[in-house]
Amino acid sequence: MTEDALATERELQSLLRERFGHEEFRSRQWEVIDNVLSGRDSLVLMPTGGGKSLCYQLPALALPGVTLVVSPLIALMKDQVDALNAKGIPAEFINSSLTPWEVESAQERVVQGLVKLLYAAPERVATPGFARFLRNARLSLIAIDEAHCISEWGHEFRPDYRELAHLRREFPETPIIALTATATPRVRQDILEHLGMRQGGVFVESFNRQNLRYSVRQKQGWRREVVERLRALREQAAIIYCFSRKDTEDVAGWLRGEGFHAAPYHAGLDAETRRRTQESFLRGETPVVVATIAFGMGVDKPNIRLVAHHSMPKSLEGYYQETGRAGRDGLPSECVLFYSAGDRSKQEQFIREMRNAQEQRNAREMLGRVAAYAQQTGCRRRTLIEYFGEEWPHENCGACDACLDPREEFDATEIAQKILSAVARTGERYGPAYVMRVLVGGRDRRIVANGHDKLSVYGIVRDFTRPQVREILAQLVARDLLVENDEEYATLSLTLKGWAFLKERQEIRLMRPAADDRPPQRGPRGAVQVEASPYAQGLFEELRTLRKQTADAEGVAAFMVFPDSALREMAAAAPRTPEEFARVRGVGAMKAERYGAPFLDAVRDYAARNGAPPPASAGRLSSAAEGGARPAPRKQGVYAATGELLSSGLSIAEIARERGLAESTIISHMERLSERGERLELERVLPAPDALREMERAFSVCGGGALRPVYEFLNESAPYNALRIARLHLRQEGRLPEA
Ligand code: ADP
Ligand code: MG
Ligand code: ZN
Repeated sequence: MTEDALATERELQSLLRERFGHEEFRSRQWEVIDNVLSGRDSLVLMPTGGGKSLCYQLPALALPGVTLVVSPLIALMKDQVDALNAKGIPAEFINSSLTPWEVESAQERVVQGLVKLLYAAPERVATPGFARFLRNARLSLIAIDEAHCISEWGHEFRPDYRELAHLRREFPETPIIALTATATPRVRQDILEHLGMRQGGVFVESFNRQNLRYSVRQKQGWRREVVERLRALREQAAIIYCFSRKDTEDVAGWLRGEGFHAAPYHAGLDAETRRRTQESFLRGETPVVVATIAFGMGVDKPNIRLVAHHSMPKSLEGYYQETGRAGRDGLPSECVLFYSAGDRSKQEQFIREMRNAQEQRNAREMLGRVAAYAQQTGCRRRTLIEYFGEEWPHENCGACDACLDPREEFDATEIAQKILSAVARTGERYGPAYVMRVLVGGRDRRIVANGHDKLSVYGIVRDFTRPQVREILAQLVARDLLVENDEEYATLSLTLKGWAFLKERQEIRLMRPAADDRPPQRGPRGAVQVEASPYAQGLFEELRTLRKQTADAEGVAAFMVFPDSALREMAAAAPRTPEEFARVRGVGAMKAERYGAPFLDAVRDYAARNGAPPPASAGRLSSAAEGGARPAPRKQGVYAATGELLSSGLSIAEIARERGLAESTIISHMERLSERGERLELERVLPAPDALREMERAFSVCGGGALRPVYEFLNESAPYNALRIARLHLRQEGRLPEA
C-alpha cells in the first residue's frame, strides 16, 4: 500500500457525500472500506440492495491506480459505467459488446492512468492478452462481484470464474474484495480458497430483511390471490416470477385482461422490448412485470412492494435473491411463493435431463431445500436465514405466515386413507380434481359415466371442503405417498410408501389445512362477482373522479383519500347526512370531517340527476345504524368481512369464533385492511389503557417494525396479539415510530 492511498476518514466522508450523494455509510460499509484501504482482502456478504458496490467504488477513488471490477452481468456494465461517469467518476468497461478498436482505446486510457474503475467480464479477464495489459496498468484493487459464481456449490456456478484464481497469482500484492449477496457457509469457503484470499476480512451483514413478509400458498388459488394482492397494491410495483417464458406471456396477458398494467419480460424478447419494459417499470408506468429470472439483476427500484413466485424457484439462494428485490426502501413488502407438487415434478424432469452427475446431484439437493421450505410449518425467515449460516435466535419473527398464523398439525390418518383409497379404487388413472370430486360426491357426468358414484369412497368426505381436500392431497404428494405423474393430463397414483400406508394401517399427522375463508364464488367458471347495482356503479364512477381531483389537489395517492373499497361502500350506501357518511365502512370520523362535504355533495348531486337510491342500499345503512342484527359478512372478500364484524362491535375472539378462524388470522386480516389504507374501529379491542401506554413506550424505544424487540422489552409479558393491535392503533393514530 502506498502513502498516497491513505485517505483520512474525513476525506472519505466527503467523497461519499460529494461523489455518491449519501449522507453516511451504512453499517458495514465503513468497516469494509477501512479494511480494503489498509491493503487486506475482504469477503463481503450483504443482501441485495445492501450497498456492496460502494465498498469498492469508494476505495477506487481513494486509491492511486485503477480498480478492476469483474462482473458477470455484461448487460449491466454499460449502465453501471454510465452511472459512474455521470457522477464524474472516470470508468470504462471491456466486454464482448465492444469492437477491438474500442477495447484498445479503453485499455489505452487505463494504462495512461485516466481510469479509476474498469469493468470486465470474467471470460475476458481469463485471456493472456488481458493479463499482459493489466501488468502495464497500475492495478490498485481487484473487485469480484457476484463472487458466489466461483463455487460449484452455488446456484449460479460459472466455469469462467474459476479462472480468476490466476489474478491472485499474477498480482499477489493487490488486495482482492469479493462480494456476493448469496453464499452458504460452504460457498464462502470455496470463494476464500479459490481466490487464495488471506484470512481475516470476512464481513457478513445480516441476511434478515425485517420489512419483508414471507408466505407460501398453495398454487391452486394463485389467480385469485394475485389479483387480490395487486388490487391492494393500487399500482405500486410488483414482480411475478415464472418458470417459463411462455408462462410470463400467459400470465401477463391474463393480468392485462383483469385490468392491470402488466408486461412480460424474458430473455427471448428483443433487447429493445426488454429495455422499454424495464424503463416503464422503473418509471412506474408498468407496475407489474411478469418475468423469468432474467429480470431483476441490476433493477434498482427501491419501492417494489410484492415479489410473487408463480412457479417454484430452483434454489433457496435464488429465492432469497429474487425476493430481496422487494422493499429495498425498508418499507413493508410481501414475498409470496405459490407452491405445487406439479411444479416440483416439472423441475425434477429438467434435472433428470442434466448430463453432469454432480450438477444433477447439486440441483436436486437445492430443489429439495425449496420444497422443504414450502412445506414446513415453522418460521420461514428462520429457514432462510439459517440457510445462509446465520443464527436466528427468535421464536416468532412476526412477519411470516407461519409466525402470524401458526398452523397446527392434526391426525390425518382417516382422511389420508380415504384419499389414497379413492385414488386406488378409480384405478390410478385420474387427476387430483377428479379424485377430489369423487370424494366429496360431485355429480358430474364423467363420474356417473364411469360408475364411480357407486364406489364406497364416493362422497365419503364431509368434514373438509374441496380446497381443504386439495391441500391435504398436496401434502400427501409432498410426503411421497402419492405421485402426480407429469403427463399432459396429470394423474395420481400411489407410491410404494402409499400402498404400505394403506395396507399396514399406518398413522399420519399433517398440517391442518387453512380454514376455507375464500370469498364465495359464483357465476360461470368461478368468477368472483361483486354486487353493485347500476345506480351504485354510476355513482362509484363519479366518486372516483372526485377522489382523483382531491388527491391531485393534495398531492397524495388516490387511495390515501379513500380506498376503492370505501368508495364502493359509499356508492352502495348513498349517504345523505354527515352522520350517515361517517358510518360508511372505510370512512371513519377523521376522513368524514376532512372530505365529507364535497363527497356528500357529489352523492346528492348524483341523486338529483338519477333519482333516489334503490331501497336496498338505504336499508343496509339503517340496520347498521340501529345496531340491531349483526350484519352478515358481506361478499366482498375475506378481509372486508373481518372489518365489518369489527365495526359491528364484536371482540377479536368473537370474530374468530364467528368465522371459524384463529385470532391471529383475524388480526392478520386487520393488518391487511390497514395496509390498504382502511381505518379500523379499534377502540373496543384495544388493550387496557395502562398496558397500551406501556406498549407505546416500548414501541418508541424499539421502533415500529418488528414485534420481537418490543415483546422482549416488555419482559415477554404482553401477548403478541395485543402488541399487534397496539401497533395497528398507533399507526392509525400516526404515533408509531419508524421501523
Ligand atoms: P448491492 O450491490 O449490494 O445489491 P448496490 O450497491 O447496488 O447494492 O446499492 C443499492 C442501493 O443502495 C443503491 O441505490 C445505492 O445508491 C444505495 N446506497 C448504497 N450505499 C448507500 C449509503 N451509504 N447511503 C444511502 N444509500 C446507499
Ligand atoms: Mg451489486
Ligand atoms: Zn416467522
